[in-house]
Amino acid sequence: MVAAANEKRLLVGGEWIDTGDWLDVRSPYSGDIVGRAAKAGADETRRAIDAAERAMQEPLPAHKRAEILVRVAGALGRRHEEVARLISDEAGKPLKAARVEAARAMSTYTFAAVEARKLAGEMVPMDAAQAGEGKLAFTLRRPIGIVGAISPFNFPLNLVAHKIAPALASGCAVVLKPASQTPMSALLLAELEEEAGLPPGWLNVLVGPASEIGDVLVEDDRVKLITFTGSSGVGWKLKERAPKKRVNLELGNATPVIVAADADVTVAATKVAQNAFAFAGQSCISVQRVYVERDAYDTFVQTLVPLVNALKVGDPADEETDVGPVIDEDARERILEWINATSGEVLTGGDLDGDLIRPTVIANPGRNDEVSCEEVFGPVCTVTAVDSIDEAIELANATRYGLQAGIFTGNIDTAFRAAQELDFGGVTVNEAPTFRSDQMPYGGVKDSGNTREGPRYAVHEMTEDRLVVIDLPS
Ligand code: NAP
Repeated sequence: MVAAANEKRLLVGGEWIDTGDWLDVRSPYSGDIVGRAAKAGADETRRAIDAAERAMQEPLPAHKRAEILVRVAGALGRRHEEVARLISDEAGKPLKAARVEAARAMSTYTFAAVEARKLAGEMVPMDAAQAGEGKLAFTLRRPIGIVGAISPFNFPLNLVAHKIAPALASGCAVVLKPASQTPMSALLLAELEEEAGLPPGWLNVLVGPASEIGDVLVEDDRVKLITFTGSSGVGWKLKERAPKKRVNLELGNATPVIVAADADVTVAATKVAQNAFAFAGQSCISVQRVYVERDAYDTFVQTLVPLVNALKVGDPADEETDVGPVIDEDARERILEWINATSGEVLTGGDLDGDLIRPTVIANPGRNDEVSCEEVFGPVCTVTAVDSIDEAIELANATRYGLQAGIFTGNIDTAFRAAQELDFGGVTVNEAPTFRSDQMPYGGVKDSGNTREGPRYAVHEMTEDRLVVIDLPS
């Protein structure tokens, strides 16, 4: 049994509803129940959209929206440790990484509050065309309408924050469906929104069967934008099914890093060790494929492997743990299969420590092995020797994904070249591509998505220009 405090009902139109049907949320580490969430279905989803529609009939002025967002940021700061422990419990995220996520959500809310106060259109220079002479024109930034938000398990708080905070900054009501494996952080965030003074209906949270809730969000014309973060397969299908909606996709990656022969190899190896295995590689920008120029290859590998072996694998609640469990048994079996199937040499790891996959480094895998071309989403990185930067860039780009990529080099020309030629939404130089700060424009090209998150960019997506033209008296 779990304590009542860990039971959370679903939120529709300001009411916390017990549907009588409960979803057990289990620790991916121990299998213990860490919470229970009331389950919604299609009916509750329709009611949530009704409530969001009613809420938007009484728009909240920007200063009120900003104040609410600032209050939520403050609450996240005050309750930081509680929030971090909840993330750690339900996602199996090592506590030190969960604390970073909780702090980042506070930052996301703070940036969103700034955007709420800055939201404005622009003047149109009408006399720039003869037809415009004698006219004054400007744009208003209008909320797009109800936002349907669907979020993944791996950042159960901050990726929810990246959807609902910009939506509220834009003046849009939200119907949120968090991942079934990790709904508790999202429901806690909804409590904080309510305590911060968000009126009923502006945020509705539904936990339950993805296809049932997703179908209603896709089919209901009142939902004007779907913001989805998750796997590419699900994301692109949703978009196909909703041709009249804006469907913003933040999807997967098979993140590459290039290490040039002139790089500081110790820095590169240290950052790869930190960023390929944090949260057991379950970040969409976890380092996965490393291409090292041949002259630096041996030194890089000899530096990397001991650093990887020094990572502490174990209970995510332990202060010292670096690498915990992957989300479930299916994920674990798939990752082990991919490791076993590669033609590369396993330099370390490749097996289990109890139920946990040991951090795994694979040298020179085949180009078409899953670990080379699919998203592993586990504690695995590959290291491949290359003859030139040309070859490294070619291999880094040889993927259907394009979220973020990185290069380590001591040569500014090589850095600029990589920034131009790596076909990704973001390129980091002398930093792992796992780096993200919450104000950045973040998103991918190709199969990795079609939008940018970060409050400023998300607010742009969630608002539309309305043009006002005034005929001036002659
Ligand atoms: P997922 O299986 O695609 O699930 C993501 C969300 O979509 C969950 O809420 C899921 O609900 C829901 N969903 C599943 N099927 C659906 C359907 N037919 N209709 C509507 N919703 C549906 O992804 P995940 O395993 O949670 O997350 C890992 C993936 O997310 C990785 O590919 C990772 O790279 C990507 N990701 C991308 C970013 C980014 O910003 N680009 C950030 C983090 C993660 P249920 O949980 O109920 O199934």
